[in-house]
Amino acid sequence: MNNDDLKEEIKNRIKLSEIISKKVILKKKSENSFIGLCPFHSEKTPSFHVHDEKQFYHCFGCEKHGDIFSFTMEVDNIDFYSALKYLASLIGLTLNNKSHQNISFQNKYKTLDLSSKFFIETLNNKKNKKVLDYLNKRGLNKEICQEFLIGFAPSKNYDSQLIDFLKSKNINEEELIEIGLAKKKYNNLYGYFYDRIMIPIVSTNGKIIAFGGRSTNSSEPKYLNSPESDVFSKRNILFGAYNVKKSKQNIDNIILCEGYMDVIALFRFGYPAVATLGTAVSEKQIDLLTKLSKNIFIVFDGDQAGKNASIRLFDKLLPLIKTDNVFRFVFLPNNLDPEEFLIKNGKDKFNVLLEKSYFISDIIWLMGIKNKMNDTPEEIAKFWKFIRSKIYQIKEKNLQLAIRDDLENRINKLRSKIRGYNSKPNNFINLNLPKIENDYRFKVIIAIILNFPKLFDVFEKKLIKIKFTNNSLHEVKEVIFSMIKDNSDVSYTQLVETLKERDLIKFLGDFRLEAIFSKLRSSDKKVEIDESRKVLEELIYMVNNN
Ligand SMILES: [Zn+2]
Repeated sequence: MNNDDLKEEIKNRIKLSEIISKKVILKKKSENSFIGLCPFHSEKTPSFHVHDEKQFYHCFGCEKHGDIFSFTMEVDNIDFYSALKYLASLIGLTLNNKSHQNISFQNKYKTLDLSSKFFIETLNNKKNKKVLDYLNKRGLNKEICQEFLIGFAPSKNYDSQLIDFLKSKNINEEELIEIGLAKKKYNNLYGYFYDRIMIPIVSTNGKIIAFGGRSTNSSEPKYLNSPESDVFSKRNILFGAYNVKKSKQNIDNIILCEGYMDVIALFRFGYPAVATLGTAVSEKQIDLLTKLSKNIFIVFDGDQAGKNASIRLFDKLLPLIKTDNVFRFVFLPNNLDPEEFLIKNGKDKFNVLLEKSYFISDIIWLMGIKNKMNDTPEEIAKFWKFIRSKIYQIKEKNLQLAIRDDLENRINKLRSKIRGYNSKPNNFINLNLPKIENDYRFKVIIAIILNFPKLFDVFEKKLIKIKFTNNSLHEVKEVIFSMIKDNSDVSYTQLVETLKERDLIKFLGDFRLEAIFSKLRSSDKKVEIDESRKVLEELIYMVNNN
């Protein structure tokens, strides 16, 4: 790498304001310029100007002027080489890697761009009509293919190959290997991608930096990304960010999903979305995300892996969230991914999910509830301790207080409810009976079905799998489930009447959902079917995985 080339690359990839704002509080003046109090002289009114596009800062008070390098050198009191090394590390580069010092960044981008054009041309070649038909069938029409520069890497026995094409453009082997388009085996050069739908990975400033390839047959892996290189570092990029920024400067909300096919599907349905590239979400990616939009929806796949990833991200987010952004989590039902959900249920239902998604405070609360065994004071204390530990992970004070207030409110409701129980004579609620935890869950499951018989249909398969280990409750659910199976229009009243007739209703206790849900939420408004559906799904999962 030659230093001038690297210097230029760093300036293009790191915004000056990003570096300066680590030391100076900057106020936005326009899209690309900022103002703040000068770090080089003492002042009360700001005269220190920062221009991202022109890549310099200037102080009208003390005449200090410079770029990202002079700023880093001066403020951190280090020499040029140390500044270069530090800034390079921010974009994932290590200095002194002699193996690729001869290829300029500009050439690498040019080669990647040429390759993309080759892949697009190959896709549109008549020989590959089958691939194009497949894409169209998946809803990836011409417009979408153009937007995401989708192409195709031909199979090995195809007469036109990327390597030959690039060699004909005077690009040498070393460069092909260096940017991850070819690999060497027993002294022969092979392409990195064969028989794959090619989706370029584009940097925020619009340059192709790598490719994602999706196999068109059953060959593994299903998704293959370019290896990391000087221009491509997975953890520093969000797929789709360029498309989002290009379409609109200020977007109301953005969706973070798991993969590029999800981004493309969401885009197709009109939702701005970005994705990581098959790794856990990094702090850098969270930072990029918060700059794209104020409202961020996390919509990972509905399977267990997706749920686990959501919770891992939640834990990572807690210390990083600020009042400027609102994070919300959506849990898709029935193992569906966003594309499958949209195709099956349409936009209206998807919008309902977005609207009813979980805020940070909801997640903390639900995680606590999930671990709470019963309502003894000991368990409540443990529960509160857990919730408090989560709250204190939030570093920003205002947000921490707001979330603390919300959760304290819910806890007080829970406490006053328990005190109410305790004041009654002969109350056994505090006896730590075995299985009390699952028994309570069984009761709530039955109560929800009782109130909304229609939900039985939605979860039938999972519901009949549950082993109701409590004999009385087993009897109750047998009656309810078989009545609904016989007549799907059976009403709440009919079900309750039958339970009364058979003297089974006593096993349910207070089965009004308002009473049951008062533990889960702070409002007293009527419980609706959607909220019940969410809770039911969570409960079924808990009893089946206990
Ligand atoms: Zn100054």
